[in-house]
Amino acid sequence: MSTVTAPVGLAVRDVHLAFGAHRVLRGVDLDVPRGGTTCVIGPSGSGKSTLLRTVNRLIEPDRGDVLLDGRSVLRDDPDALRQRIGMVFQQFNLFPHMTVLRNVTLALRRLRKLPEEEAVRVAREQLELVGLAGKADARPAQLSGGQQQRVAIARALALRPQVMLFDEPTSALDPELVKGVLGVLTELAAGGMTMVVVTHEMGFARQVADTVAFMDHGVVLEAGEPAAVFGSPEHPRLRRFLDQVL
Ligand code: ADP
Ligand code: MG
Repeated sequence: MSTVTAPVGLAVRDVHLAFGAHRVLRGVDLDVPRGGTTCVIGPSGSGKSTLLRTVNRLIEPDRGDVLLDGRSVLRDDPDALRQRIGMVFQQFNLFPHMTVLRNVTLALRRLRKLPEEEAVRVAREQLELVGLAGKADARPAQLSGGQQQRVAIARALALRPQVMLFDEPTSALDPELVKGVLGVLTELAAGGMTMVVVTHEMGFARQVADTVAFMDHGVVLEAGEPAAVFGSPEHPRLRRFLDQVL
């Protein structure tokens, strides 16, 4: 048996998940050291979103474990877990009928049980950090996609999570809006947030990730430092993928 090693932040251990007969995750292992950033790359349909959803317990795995600072999250109360693990989706998922401020205060009141005044204070602080202090009273539809995504990031960060999961956070954005969102992620990474970022932005992965993990057919086929994964990929399937996207 292995002994306990250095503090892992997030650890995915042999996670399996099938939808009916379709085995979507087939033994995923992934380590994100505390304070580290792991970018997950891989072809469409390889199980990247399903993996994130499993980590956040939007779906329960059939087998395997997800550990946060060495402790399984699978028995945690889901509400408590969603405070500890924040998630940002490709399509922002803001509530369209609420103001930006309300979108951020809602979870603060429901999950962190903050009183209104305190929730508003924290929300305004977070909006300021993503450069949207002036948009508190706007509705999501009045914002650009990039601004909406930054609201979604502020909403997740306001809960003070230990880990942030991003599922293709820039894939729905017009090209000129991508940079602003990646800038927020880069700052977060530099500030020591533990993050998993599913992305097709290879430049971002190369520059910001500590580890790049390549998923294919429900497993992490290869993982390592960006220079190694991009510079000298070992697996032929990873080489083929990189040939297509770079
Ligand atoms: P990726 O994010 O890498 O594109 P996904 O995790 O979204 O891949 O999907 C992996 C596979 O699982 C796909 O074949 C997809 O059709 C299937 N899948 C995802 N969610 C469900 C679901 N709720 N029910 C059935 N099949 C699903
Ligand atoms: Mg996906």
